[in-house]
Amino acid sequence: MRTILLATSNPGKLREIQSAMGDLPVRWITLKGLSAAIPQAEETGDTFAANAIEKAVYYSRAAGLRTLADDSGLQVDALGGAPGVRSARYAGLDSDVVGREQADAANNARLLAELANVPDEKRTARFRCALALVDGERVLVETSGVVEGRMLRAPRGTNGFGYDPLFFIPAMGCTTAELTQEQKNQISHRGQAVRALHPLLAKLLGA
Ligand code: IMP
Repeated sequence: MRTILLATSNPGKLREIQSAMGDLPVRWITLKGLSAAIPQAEETGDTFAANAIEKAVYYSRAAGLRTLADDSGLQVDALGGAPGVRSARYAGLDSDVVGREQADAANNARLLAELANVPDEKRTARFRCALALVDGERVLVETSGVVEGRMLRAPRGTNGFGYDPLFFIPAMGCTTAELTQEQKNQISHRGQAVRALHPLLAKLLGA
């Protein structure tokens, strides 16, 4: 059994990884499972991949463990790719301070305001996710996922988080906030990146 640190405190992300990698000889722990707390990593990169690597390297060095980190966000074409790597704090609020719901609501309000004069056909967007598994400074595996959609003018659905109520997938005829967690995992940027990780991690472990 290899121990891999998942650079998150989110139990949902731990469950998703454990269920996708359940057949591999890995014991997954999160930041909450460490004996000593590590101060939060910075995210200074211009891309999701750079931020995933930055976070993974930081926590791997601090904990002395192989570490898997992710970074994700929304890119809207009419906004030149914004909010991009600033998705979590697009409206300037920190969810650790004001709570996730309030930060998400403010981000969505800003996005709708920025897109107010953008016609439907120009509201194309995508969610991207990057994953990086590192050992100290060494990058062992990188994967990514993307899901294409279009930004609505008003929210639809109550599942999910973040920009989900505004992110409409034409092929499915609904927003990602109208999907169950299981349905979303099957098509989402995170689900794709996690599924792409499985064979690479299996090879790395010789499993
Ligand atoms: P993180 O990588 O989990 O920190 O996510 C960054 C930010 O991107 C989140 O706070 C959301 O605003 C946005 N985001 C990432 N993935 C999703 C998603 O699946 N649905 C909605 N918003 C997302």
